[in-house]
Order: sequence, then structure tokens, then C-alpha cells
Amino acid sequence: MAAEAYRCERCGAPLDVTPETIVAVCKYCGHPNWIDKSAAHTVMIVPGSYGRGREYFERYLEKDWDMRGLRGKIRIKSIDMVYVPFYTAWLSLQSRYYGVAEVTLERIVTRDKETYTETRTETVTVSGVHEIDDVEAILARRAAERTHIDPLLSHYLKTRPKDMPLEKVEWDQVKGEVLAGEISPRDALGIAKDRGCEKLHDSTLKRMESEAKDAAQNQAPGFGWFAVDVSWISTRIPCKVLKQEVSPLRLIPYYDIVYSYEGKLYRTVIAGWDGERVYGEEPITAGRRALYYTGVLAGSLLGGAGLGVLAVGANPLGGLALFAAGAILSYYSAGKTLADVRVETEE
Ligand SMILES: [Zn+2]
Repeated sequence: MAAEAYRCERCGAPLDVTPETIVAVCKYCGHPNWIDKSAAHTVMIVPGSYGRGREYFERYLEKDWDMRGLRGKIRIKSIDMVYVPFYTAWLSLQSRYYGVAEVTLERIVTRDKETYTETRTETVTVSGVHEIDDVEAILARRAAERTHIDPLLSHYLKTRPKDMPLEKVEWDQVKGEVLAGEISPRDALGIAKDRGCEKLHDSTLKRMESEAKDAAQNQAPGFGWFAVDVSWISTRIPCKVLKQEVSPLRLIPYYDIVYSYEGKLYRTVIAGWDGERVYGEEPITAGRRALYYTGVLAGSLLGGAGLGVLAVGANPLGGLALFAAGAILSYYSAGKTLADVRVETEE
């Protein structure tokens, strides 16, 4: 069906609808048009402040030490206010785990004034019940530019701005382009369960490892044994959902800002509720480039000095460390000098 076939139920404006679209929020009046009627429910929105993109961007230029000096040559090319749809899912997960492992143990023994390390292995069995609670933010899009959406979602989970039902907002005050919802609440729960079970698996395995080490240390004859390695012969780590809940679809706003600096384009993404920069490409200026080259040089010198110390043989360990530090510094700096763009995201 052609995109023109879809019009807003409330105001009649044309809607962008693709085969994946479940809900399309009209950018003119803010009405949620459910294409999949069976998934219809109240949509929540974190209201953005329409028209504050420039102000937020300038505040970021002011605050950011690297950017302040470039301000004079920065030209804003476009500012778009965009809402991205996602669900929050809460899960309680349980694993009744079981595993058999071979644990390597070591101890230091002194005999006839000589010290040496003794090794042995113990086979141990561990079992028990492990539970975790998990919260997942699930993007309601089939494909998305995760590089800037992921930091936006984690900023949302950290700051938890207030939301309200979409029908309660004055659309003219908050309006923006709304990315269509493409994932149903049930599918969102399925994705959350996959991610949660992966986390449960990892944390259960960690617990099993420490239990296997303890068991092996208790089981080994004599004193002073220290478990150094666990190798699993078999494990069973099932994932059972004890409780699950999914929020309504929630829209969160961001400003997508493109600016130019000396003929090149860069992108900055700013959270639409508090003006926090969550993703940014920043120009690498001549000054910064020089700084990185200094890094390469310093790295090589450090490395060289390390080799020198190694050659003399005065302090082999120190020389090695110095050499390694030099190599790492050179590698890091050389990588930076090749790129024109430096990306910063909020973690
Ligand atoms: Zn409309």
C-alpha cells in the first residue's frame, strides 16, 4: 500500500507508514494512529521543549572546554526535534543451576629451604538457585542508529524525567517528528527476556565459579590451597521468568543538530528534556592534532627509553613496562591523528 493511503484519523494530514509501522504519531497534531489496532494503548510522552535546541547547543559549546574555542567558526546547519519510541520492561528471573567443574589449585610449599608451587585438581559439583531483577529499555524500532539512541536511553534511565499521556499535552508546545513505533509490547517483552536471561546466565556463572572454587578449596586435602582456575565439564543454567511487566509505549525527545566547522559536517545529539549532550562528534583541530602528535613522539621516546634500559639489562622489568607504556601511548595517539572526528558519548 502506498504511504499516501494513510492519513491522520484526527486532522487528515498524511502519515509516513511503512510495513513495519504499528503506530504512527501525527507530527502536526500529535494524535497516535494505531495501524495495528490490537496493540493500541495509551502512549506516554516525556515532553520536550520545542524551540530550545539552539539554546541547548550554545550552552554545550559554552560548557565544553574543547568546543569553546571553536565557537566562532561553528555554523548550525539544522536542528530537528525528534521523539523516539521505546518500552521499559521489568523482569524477575530465576535459574536453578547445576554444574560439574574441574578446579585447578595451587599452594606454595617450602621444603629444605626451597620454595616451590604445588598444583592439583579437584572435581566438584555445584547447584543452587540464583535470582535477579532486571530493567530493560527496549527501543520500539526495527532498525535504528544505535550509536546515539543507546546513550539517549541510558541517560533517560539515569535521569527518569516525568512523563504524561500523549493526549494530555499541548502538541504545539512539544511538537516534533515522531519515529514510528514498530514493535508491540509483547515483542518488547520477548526482547527484554532474551537480554535479561543473558544477564542471568552471566551472573549465575560467576556465582557458580566462586562456589566451585570454595568447594575445591574445602575438598582438597591439607592446607594452603588456592583455587586459580575453573574449567566446566558440564553446566545447566536455565532461565525462568518469575515476573514480567512492560510499560506503555513512551516517547522521549532529542535534538538532532548538524553543524559545520571549516567545511565539514558534524552531528550532536542533545536530550530534549534537560539539554544534556548525549552524543557528539567534535572536530579535531590543528592544536589538538599537534597534541596527539606530541603523544606519538612521547610514546616513541618512552618506548625507546624502555628498550635502552632493557639493552643495558639494569632493570629488565622496568624497561619492559616503560616499553609497553610507550607502545600503548604511541598506538593510541597514532589512531587519533588519523581521524578528523572525535566522538564523545555519555556512558
Ligand atoms: Zn494529525
